[in-house]
Amino acid sequence: MRNAQWVIRKYLRQRIAVCVIVAVCAFAITLGTRFISQRGINQNQIDSLIRHSIDRMDTLLIPLQTQRAEMLALVGQPCEAIHLPLRKLAVALQTVRSIALVKSGQLYCSSALGKRDVAIHSLQAQLPSRTPLLELTTDHSLLKGTPILIQWFPASADGKDGVLASLNIDLISNIILESSPPLIDQMSLNVGKLYFQHETGITDRLVSANDKIYSQQSARFPFSISVLSPGPERLALQNLLSELPLAIIMSVLFTWIAWLVTAGRLSFTREISMGIARKEFSLYCQPQMDARMQRCIGVEILLRWHNPRVGWIEPDVFIPIVETQNLIIPLTRYVISETAQRLHLFPQDPNFQIGINVAAAHFKNGRLLQDLQPYWFNFQPIQQLTVELTEREALHDVNYQMRSELGNQQIKLAIDDFGTGNSSLSWLEMLHPDVLKIDKSFTQAIGTDAVNSTVTDLIIALGQRLNIELVAEGVETPEQASYLQQHGVHLLQGYWFAHPMRIEEFPQWLAEREQ
Ligand code: C2E
Ligand code: CA
Ligand code: CA
Repeated sequence: MRNAQWVIRKYLRQRIAVCVIVAVCAFAITLGTRFISQRGINQNQIDSLIRHSIDRMDTLLIPLQTQRAEMLALVGQPCEAIHLPLRKLAVALQTVRSIALVKSGQLYCSSALGKRDVAIHSLQAQLPSRTPLLELTTDHSLLKGTPILIQWFPASADGKDGVLASLNIDLISNIILESSPPLIDQMSLNVGKLYFQHETGITDRLVSANDKIYSQQSARFPFSISVLSPGPERLALQNLLSELPLAIIMSVLFTWIAWLVTAGRLSFTREISMGIARKEFSLYCQPQMDARMQRCIGVEILLRWHNPRVGWIEPDVFIPIVETQNLIIPLTRYVISETAQRLHLFPQDPNFQIGINVAAAHFKNGRLLQDLQPYWFNFQPIQQLTVELTEREALHDVNYQMRSELGNQQIKLAIDDFGTGNSSLSWLEMLHPDVLKIDKSFTQAIGTDAVNSTVTDLIIALGQRLNIELVAEGVETPEQASYLQQHGVHLLQGYWFAHPMRIEEFPQWLAEREQ
């Protein structure tokens, strides 16, 4: 069994735990979504920059392709005759440094230098070639040693005749291969196994300590553009720092909402309401004995709560909370109705007393009487109902009219825990209770505590004087029982006779007792 503080702290801990989880999740989800969206944006930007470069490079190579037939038509013609149209073609193609015509492996006419006679193989080792070639290489005729991009178109089946166009890659690279930090640190043109970068020139591999390589192939020509980039993830991560304020705001906002939402849900009050609805409360009863006759003359109905999430919770823990949370009336209604449905478990005797604990709040505005009609009297009980009014609360809600109504309905009024709370003698006189239940603290004082046992004697004398029935609670020893009897208290309740038991066990207990 748990005490009230433990239970309340448990709910508070759960509420705090929920809020911490919400705070962490809101923080992580905000940063996570910002990260994912920024990563997507970065990836798109890198892709589009690469595509843009490919498009620009394609735009340079397309005119060469379209002029191919025109250039090939010049191969074999004497250089003097075609030098002018060759120059015009080279000028029209703008980015072309020179166009050279090759016949039988010999470069015999160049748009830049006019008539020549050089073995093409000595200028470009890979030429002549049977197949068209696009290659990164170094210039060996005009600006020696500078990087060029060559386009070879063969003009004959054996590949010994053809046209060689050299593109001034160095000049155009700063337009085509534009780096855009921080997205792209370096951009390179990749043809065959070689790379060309704006500042480094031609290399056979891309080297980077931290960056990643992203490449895209041109759909039209045999080249690709490769970039060195920190990568969309790393860039998005670097960007996360600027998203921290947003994540903190979202986290605080959602935590605040969670705190408000859990106020009702993760509270003891809600747990009690749910407990009533789910019938987690069970009824126990404790016999009351007439010690003279050695007979059970009634029972007191006591609640037990087995909460599936918390375990057993004592009435001393939940009843005070129930009372402060205005749930005592529905809970008592539940006790009355559940008891009324089990009246067959008790002797069908009009003198058999069934005591039900009722809080003072239930007496207000006659609500108890309103509830008794449907929940008790409709079951046509034979037994005597006693309502035990605890002194835990101030009793000013119980008025004289109410008292007489109870009398009219043959309901007995008992004052519970008499001597411990707010009772006063004038109040006793006004309400004329039928029963005084001597609190267990006075019973237990018998023979041990001189002051309290004097009070016990006074209560007994008072009851006898006012002609009120006396029931002693908490009788645990035969000495207490015989002392009370000798002093005229014959109705006794306590562990000495029976512990509270499940209401369904009562018939068997009674049968064994009366054997
Ligand atoms: P109470 O009305 O004074 O009920 C008697 C309490 O004393 C019960 O505790 C019972 O188990 C305990 N008791 C009985 N015999 C002995 C004994 O010989 N020695 C000792 N030490 N204790 C004994 P329980 O069931 O834990 O109930 C505690 C209190 O919770 C009750 O005190 C009553 O004020 C409240 N309660 C229980 N059920 C209900 C209910 O249905 N409605 C309302 N409003 N209050 C209830
Ligand atoms: Ca009681
Ligand atoms: Ca009591």
